[in-house]
Amino acid sequence: MSDVNLVISGGRVVTPGGVVDADISIGDGRIVGIDAPGTRFSHGELVQVDGATIIPGGIDTHTHLRDPGFTHKEDITSGTRAAVAGGYTTVVGMPNVDPPTNTLERYRDIIGLYREKSLVDFNHNPSPTRPSEVAALADEGALGFKIYMIEDTGRDYPHMPGVGVHHHGQLLEIAESVGATGRVLMVHPHDQTLMETIEGRFWEKGERDHRAYAKAFASLEGMVWDTATSFLIRLQEATGVHMHVLHVKTPRMTALIRDAKARGLHVTAELNPVAVFLCNEWENIERWGPYALSTWTGEGVTESLWEALNDQTIDVVGTDHAPHTREEKEIGWTDMWQAHGGVPSIEYVLSMFLTEVVTGRISLERVVELTATGPAKTFGLYPRKGVVQVGADADLVVVDLEAETTIREEDTLSKCGWTPFDGRKVRGMPVHTLVRGGFVLRDGKVVGEPGTGHHAKPQVN
Ligand SMILES: [Zn+2]
Repeated sequence: MSDVNLVISGGRVVTPGGVVDADISIGDGRIVGIDAPGTRFSHGELVQVDGATIIPGGIDTHTHLRDPGFTHKEDITSGTRAAVAGGYTTVVGMPNVDPPTNTLERYRDIIGLYREKSLVDFNHNPSPTRPSEVAALADEGALGFKIYMIEDTGRDYPHMPGVGVHHHGQLLEIAESVGATGRVLMVHPHDQTLMETIEGRFWEKGERDHRAYAKAFASLEGMVWDTATSFLIRLQEATGVHMHVLHVKTPRMTALIRDAKARGLHVTAELNPVAVFLCNEWENIERWGPYALSTWTGEGVTESLWEALNDQTIDVVGTDHAPHTREEKEIGWTDMWQAHGGVPSIEYVLSMFLTEVVTGRISLERVVELTATGPAKTFGLYPRKGVVQVGADADLVVVDLEAETTIREEDTLSKCGWTPFDGRKVRGMPVHTLVRGGFVLRDGKVVGEPGTGHHAKPQVN
């Protein structure tokens, strides 16, 4: 057994076997013991966290850190500072950077940037728009591949050329090439040609503001999402690829995914926090306008989404942390099609879900599954990550579910400097965050340094 250099004592620990009062011993960055309180002899530092809850560090498999190319919005260091404040210990970047990550050379370059700048463990899912590059990218350690079925109309970001494909034949070739590697194909579902007709109807009436944009995406009860999801499930059946459907937000999407899983198809699904905490309420669209969009989920869908979170239809909560500057958002009050879509979130996602544990809407164990264990299993990082058990990396978050915090915009660590969650009261903001046994957040203060993160590659079982 490794030498113990740190013991975290007195916490309620969420383990695969249940919630237990235990001391966690850490050596060489791994968990080496989970023992009854006070029973373990230690040569190392003792940190007392009486009454706090200890969960595995969040694994965000959908993080936009904007680096390289858009570092006026966020960069890997500022974004991973926000991540540790929010209890995330692993982040997986997205390919809509500049240059878009769709070749081995670009993947190596961006992994080099993460090594230099990240406070947490990391990977980055490249775009498979060049199928000839896919096998080499998988060999280099990519956990999965990201494709957008959306290409922006009226703006060229965040869904720029080079990462978006909606041609079904090209999608078939992409699914075949990713399927051959055994890695995950994560897809932003969207019916591009249907949306062009729908949005054209709003534009003809001169409606381009945040309200029109929200209503366009939710038109016909979210048909642009549903038809794409249906296609993706059929594509999974045709190719065998592990299909990971992103941005679940309509009742028909959850029904399609539930059915696919019941039929034994290799389909997993992601829900984003905005779908249940922001974009599900019209009053938030009115109040925050472009700062809430993303896309409106439409009327009356909230309960069906919580049901999908609770009944395991959803495997992963991805933050879809998507910072943009105020300047890039402001134009959205008059023309949302020119504003950049997406909101920053990684600092508050875990605590917003933990707050719902206190209200009884979801269990603590299920929040852990959605934010850590599920992402780790989906992307091949389990059991090295995503679980508090002996042998796993000591990626830990210590939270106090009794403590209430009011989110304040001036405290936000994301470079963009704003949050649509300003004023919200949450429980369980992280007190300590540890990456492989080292503190990156201590007593609520970021203490991690750039260069701490390791490249988290898939575990070969
Ligand atoms: Zn995204």
